Amino acid sequence: MLKLPKSFLFSGNGGGVLQGTTYEAILCTFTAARDRTSNRIGRENIGKLVVYGLDQTHFRAVAMTVDPIAPLCAVAKEYGVWVHIDAVYVGSACICPEFKHFIDGVEDVDSFSFNAHKWFFTTLYCCCLWVKYPSTLVKALSTSLEYLRNKATESKQVIDYKDWQNSPQSSISEP
Ligand SMILES: *Cc1c(COP(=O)(O)O)cnc(C)c1O
Repeated sequence: MLKLPKSFLFSGNGGGVLQGTTYEAILCTFTAARDRTSNRIGRENIGKLVVYGLDQTHFRAVAMTVDPIAPLCAVAKEYGVWVHIDAVYVGSACICPEFKHFIDGVEDVDSFSFNAHKWFFTTLYCCCLWVKYPSTLVKALSTSLEYLRNKATESKQVIDYKDWQNSPQSSISEP
């Protein structure tokens, strides 16, 4: 299996969750990144936030052919930028030792996802998302509706994955 650094695993600080699609994974991580940044710079500055993507994406483009994760993360760290790696295809390829170098430096990103429903040929939909600090994601997406509360979650005996995904009740639509 794809070998991620310990910091991404439950045995380290991190954790993983299955999302439906990459778009859902990115929406969830954007929400966490937005909240983390707006907590730092103030909610009144939320309109100043910018999303950078590679030149194959629809946002502000940074031209490159191979994604140099380590140098990107070094710059991002300086500015407190959340780095998400959309490794839709290459994540599956990286189970092969000869391709693993494509994700060199991945220990410095905030989140990473790949689609098992592409080169792993699982049925639709299956996007594997890892986050380095699940608390940021959970804080952004958790719901506290009375009827969803339960002892197992509150005592932290179980991981409540409803708080790791977008749901109609989550705070995702709030400014
Ligand atoms: C296929 C693909 C997506 C979309 O994935 P979904 O799981 O269908 O949302 C996103 N990014 C890249 C690079 C892709 O190849």
